[in-house]
Amino acid sequence: TERSAFVVVANRLPVDEVAAEGGREWRRSPGGLVTALHPVLAAHQGTWVGWAGGTDAAPGPFDVDGIHLHPVPLSGDELEKYYEGQSNATIWPLYHDAVEPPMYKRSWRDAYRRVNARFADAAAEVAADGATVWVQDYQLQLVPAMLRERRPDLRIGFFLHIPFPSIELFMQMPQRVEILRGLLGADLVGFQQRLAAQNFIRLARHLLGLRYVGQTVEVDDRRVKAGAFPISIDTAEMERMGADPEVQARAKQIRKELGDPKTVILGVDRLDYTKGIEQRLKAFRELLAEDFLSVPDAVMVQVATPSRERVEHYQTLRVKVEREVGRINGEYARVGVPAVHYLHQSYSRAELAALYRAADVMMVTPLRDGMNLVAKEYVAARGDLGGALVLSEFAGAASELKQAFLCNPHDPDGVKDALRRAVTVDQVEARRRMRIMQRHLRSHNVERWANTFLTELRGEA
Ligand code: UDP
Repeated sequence: TERSAFVVVANRLPVDEVAAEGGREWRRSPGGLVTALHPVLAAHQGTWVGWAGGTDAAPGPFDVDGIHLHPVPLSGDELEKYYEGQSNATIWPLYHDAVEPPMYKRSWRDAYRRVNARFADAAAEVAADGATVWVQDYQLQLVPAMLRERRPDLRIGFFLHIPFPSIELFMQMPQRVEILRGLLGADLVGFQQRLAAQNFIRLARHLLGLRYVGQTVEVDDRRVKAGAFPISIDTAEMERMGADPEVQARAKQIRKELGDPKTVILGVDRLDYTKGIEQRLKAFRELLAEDFLSVPDAVMVQVATPSRERVEHYQTLRVKVEREVGRINGEYARVGVPAVHYLHQSYSRAELAALYRAADVMMVTPLRDGMNLVAKEYVAARGDLGGALVLSEFAGAASELKQAFLCNPHDPDGVKDALRRAVTVDQVEARRRMRIMQRHLRSHNVERWANTFLTELRGEA
């Protein structure tokens, strides 16, 4: 195989297999990460190492849009244990403040180690001498150390897209030393927030007795730097979508189909227990009960995209959310006018942009979230300066979007208060807030995120 000077390693390849004339073909997927990394990958004949989806034999290496793709195979058993188990039923809940109890299983841990080694082997195979390798996210935390062992010549970066927990929580994990050592295999470990980077540095001292100076941990004869690199969106693209006449026509149509209410309240999330969907529904229900809001003047639209449906936590969450939606509609809907429009479906970015433009209030109320891109997308889509954002303090985005109506999702009165204020805010004040947040997102876009990280990784900072 051809070897690359720049390699990205992530659980998923940035492509989807779609039906096309004469069979099936691979298309670049719409995510922000690919958008940000595409220019860097294209400029360096870069390679992306990842799982192609599916558990049949993986395809051989192939190219899409000038990027080399190097598939890593996963068996059905590995998908269950490494991905659904260790990644999404152990690490995901633990790193999100254990808002659901993490499950610990030895067979999951073993599969996680085995799959991480396979990713490290693949990266070692495709990386040129002295290449820069950027490993992504919680599914691959052992890869940095495994890769360094195989290839000490590489510059290795790691970025964690989700939160990194406090020492007390991290210490629960049976695999704690192995994971910490795995991360310490990188030259630069990036987090969404300063607090997460601090948690990591303190953990290195607490668990391994390592010395640190400022943000740099000393490991053997190496230095590992930790830092905050808050991820963002392709702001210009979302601004364009919001301004697109077709999107605006669709937004109008959506409002009409909702019965032209005075107030459209919107939620857009993967159906995940970290997102605070129940807390948001409860706030809406109580404001209906108090007659502060009433149907049909106010309606809520909740997109809850299907996610991780084979993991038990997600099955119970779905039941709870759907019961609450049923309860609200049972009590407050009228014939032909639901109070909550609940959509357990996945939407295109254009349809989401139309929903953003149709919403008077966007509610983003996670109990814990690494960043939350939906909050940033909503702001960027509102070139008309309309709308108001209710945002949880526990989303990484709250450190940047300070002009949102911030709330603590654990406090029902706090959520209701933020929603009340967002519904009644005067236009001048709403536009002022939106303008400041948009200015921030214009300069802090995903391209800047990638460049900042890579500059620091290459020691040019
Ligand atoms: N998204 C989408 N279709 C949907 C729901 C969400 O394309 O039906 C996109 C959304 O636009 C955003 C991303 O998925 O870019 C979700 O990112 P976020 O950081 O908000 O949450 P995550 O799902 O990564 O926890």
